[in-house]
Amino acid sequence: MDNTLKLEYGFDTTAVRAGTGRSQFNEHSEALFLTSSFCFASAAEMAERFSNAERHYTYSRFTNPTVSMFQDRLAALEGGEACIATASGMSAILSVVMASMQAGDHIISSRAIFGSTVGMFTQIFSRFGIATTFVDPVNPDAWRQAVRPETKMFFVETPSNPLTELCDIETIAAIAKAAGALYVVDNTFCSPAVQQPLKLGADVVMHSATKLVDGQGRVLGGALVGKREFIMEKVFPFVRTAGPSLSAFNAWIFLKGLETLALRAERHSQNALQVARWLEGNAAVKRVFYPGLESHPQYELARRQQHSGGSVLAFEVFGNTPDQQRENAWRVIDATKLCSITANVGDTRTTITHPATTTHGRMTPEARAQAGVTEALLRIAVGLEDARDICEDLNRGLSA
Ligand SMILES: *Cc1c(COP(=O)(O)O)cnc(C)c1O
Repeated sequence: MDNTLKLEYGFDTTAVRAGTGRSQFNEHSEALFLTSSFCFASAAEMAERFSNAERHYTYSRFTNPTVSMFQDRLAALEGGEACIATASGMSAILSVVMASMQAGDHIISSRAIFGSTVGMFTQIFSRFGIATTFVDPVNPDAWRQAVRPETKMFFVETPSNPLTELCDIETIAAIAKAAGALYVVDNTFCSPAVQQPLKLGADVVMHSATKLVDGQGRVLGGALVGKREFIMEKVFPFVRTAGPSLSAFNAWIFLKGLETLALRAERHSQNALQVARWLEGNAAVKRVFYPGLESHPQYELARRQQHSGGSVLAFEVFGNTPDQQRENAWRVIDATKLCSITANVGDTRTTITHPATTTHGRMTPEARAQAGVTEALLRIAVGLEDARDICEDLNRGLSA
């Protein structure tokens, strides 16, 4: 299969055509290769292919044509040279750390990152001698001050979940470069349709493809995109040996997902902005957090760094005590008939959560307070329904 990329095409063309390879049947839509291994014409051919496993298909833990097509397409969309796909977003994080670090090394991470990523840094990597310092993503000085001689990685997620705080990707890139650290950006919440961190100085973009890349809440997967040397010489040997490889079936779902990514991301953002504006005008809402709103403290940075506001927003209801706040927040959730009460993001269907008692429930009350996740806070990942219907659904609990 020859899936050569033509990087001079625009984003939309790339999304539907990059990475496509065809078998001897010349199928139009990419084929799904559900096979664990591949055959050879002779002992000599088998020997040759095993010695060049990254360029040939031998065994699907190493490489698979459907997975390769997805990797090539995502790499092209992120503006990266190469991509390795993984079984989940978390296994992408596992792989980038295992590929580049060893005992004694140090990570500096934004403190406003995905809960399981915090768990990975504090409970798993720490047992293997890799320490992590968590810093305020908004304050570049905090990053500068956390640098140690053994710092090997900077880890950022922007906008943050659930408060949509932005980390200035370009500013932090300069600090990471000066420190000689690998700069990894988790681009799950934006996708390359909204934000392209490699163009702003990141070394590696990490994805939970489970979210916007699939876009329809069906399968798990992850990916790492970056320079060919790093991805093929560090990440690939780890993934093919340790085996957090992506299944061909999930890769095929993601390939199809990428074809509609730009359209979906645009509508997610339009809907989210409409819902955010409506919430901002609602007397039962105390505060709204959304990077597409002029009232967002980092609105100017959002306009520079992102093509749109993205799909995730948060808002606070009123309440004099934490108990009252929780009661009011839960009332909004329980009154919905349309929004799904679930934690997924980047789905066609709008989802609503109460972070303090779910995604952020295992943090200590002090850490939660420091992160700004109050009992009054609700998070919405806005889907592709009519924005008016989403607002009406939220209004049931807000007007009660
Ligand atoms: C979901 C998510 C992950 C983890 O991805 P999985 O596919 O669930 O393993 C990591 N980072 C962010 C920002 C996420 O939303």
